[in-house]
Amino acid sequence: MNEDFDPDWGTATRGVRAGTHRTPEGEHSNAIYMTSSFVFESAEECAARFSGDAPGNIYSRFTNPTVDAFSKRLAAMEGGESCVATASGMSAILATCLATLEAGDHIVAAHTLFGSTIGLFNNYLAKLGITTSYVSPEDNAAWKAAITPATRMLFVETPSNPLTEVVDMAALAELANDNNALLVVDNCFCTPVLQRPLDFGAHVVTHSATKFLDGQGRALGGAVVGDADIVGDRVFRFLRTCGPTMSPFNAWIFYKALETLEVRMRAHCEAGQKVAEWLEAQPGVEHVYYPGLQSHPQHELATRQQPGGYGGILALRLAGGRDAAFKLINGTKMISITANLGDTRTTIVHPASTTHARISAEDRGRAGITEGVVRISVGLENVDDIIADLAAGLA
Ligand SMILES: *Cc1c(COP(=O)(O)O)cnc(C)c1O
Repeated sequence: MNEDFDPDWGTATRGVRAGTHRTPEGEHSNAIYMTSSFVFESAEECAARFSGDAPGNIYSRFTNPTVDAFSKRLAAMEGGESCVATASGMSAILATCLATLEAGDHIVAAHTLFGSTIGLFNNYLAKLGITTSYVSPEDNAAWKAAITPATRMLFVETPSNPLTEVVDMAALAELANDNNALLVVDNCFCTPVLQRPLDFGAHVVTHSATKFLDGQGRALGGAVVGDADIVGDRVFRFLRTCGPTMSPFNAWIFYKALETLEVRMRAHCEAGQKVAEWLEAQPGVEHVYYPGLQSHPQHELATRQQPGGYGGILALRLAGGRDAAFKLINGTKMISITANLGDTRTTIVHPASTTHARISAEDRGRAGITEGVVRISVGLENVDDIIADLAAGLA
C-alpha cells in the first residue's frame, strides 16, 4: 500500500507521512530494501521493464523502494515535483551541473559557497569548459553585472556560510528567467522547514542530507529537488548512468530523520536566537552575524524568505583576531571542534584557517571572513549549557 501525500498537509505532516510504503506484512515504519537488483517472473517481464514498457525496479543504481520513499518525502516537503537522492551533497551538485550544463556554459555563483563546491566548479567543471564567476551573495547588481550570454546557471546558498548573508531568491529567479538560466539553491542550512526556495522561483534545490536533514551526524547523502523535466528526467538519467546514487540503508536513516526535522529545526532556531543575543552582549565580541538579530542588515528579507525561522548557524567576530578566536575555541569543553554543522551537537570552527583557508587572504578579506571570525552551529543541548561553555571560552 502506498499512502498518498495530501497537498493540504503541512511540512511536519509531510515529513512524518509522505512516502509511506507498506508491504503485506503491515509494518508501521518503512522496511529497508537492501538489495542490489530485482527479479522478474519471466523473460518477457524482464524485457518490458528494461524497455520501459512496464514500471518497476530493475537495479538499485536506477531505483530502490527505500530511496524512493526518502525522495518522495523530501519532494513533498520542498514542494517539488521530483526528487533524486544522491550519495552525498557534493554528488547532488555534480549531478545537477552535469545534467544541465554543456561545454562553453557559464555559472554565476556566490563567492561564499561551501569550499568543495568552489573546488568542483574551479577544478573539474572548468576542465570541461564550464566557467564560473563569483559575486557577493547579497549584491543583486553584482549578480546582474556578472551575467554573460553564456550564463546558464546561478548558484547560491542562503544564508551564506559563515557570515549569514541573505540572498534575495525572488530577484535572482527573475534574473535567471530573463537570461535563460537556472537558479540553483543549496538549501542545506535552512531545510524545507525554514525556507522553500521553489516557492520563490528557484528552479532546483540541492541538499547535503549529511547536515540538518539527518541532523545527527550519522551518514552521508544528498538530494536534488525540482520539476519532472530537469530533475525527474535529466538529473535522474545522469544518476542512473553515472552512479552516485544513495545507499538504501542511508536513505532509510534520512527518511526516518525527516520525521523529526520540524521539531529539531525549531529547537535549533530557538537556541540559535538565544546564543546570538547573548553573544551580542559580551565584551570582546565586535559583531554577531545571525539573520534573527535586529542588527542583521537583511533581517526583513530573512523574515520574508525563511518563514520557519532563522536557523541554527551563526558567526561572531572577535576584536582580538586569530588569537582571540583560537582562545575561544580552545577554551570550550563540551562544544565539538569540527567543521561539520547541522548536528545535535554544537560545533565550533575558525573559518579563515579551515573551511575558507583555500580562498586567498585578499578574497577572504573582501568577503569579511577575517581572522577574528568564529562559526558556531548551535545544537540541541540545553541552551544554558551551550552558553556556559562559550562563556568559559570567552573568559
Ligand atoms: C556539507 C555541504 C555540502 C556537501 O555535502 P556532503 O554531503 O559533505 O557532500 C554542500 N553544501 C553545503 C552548504 C554544505 O554545508
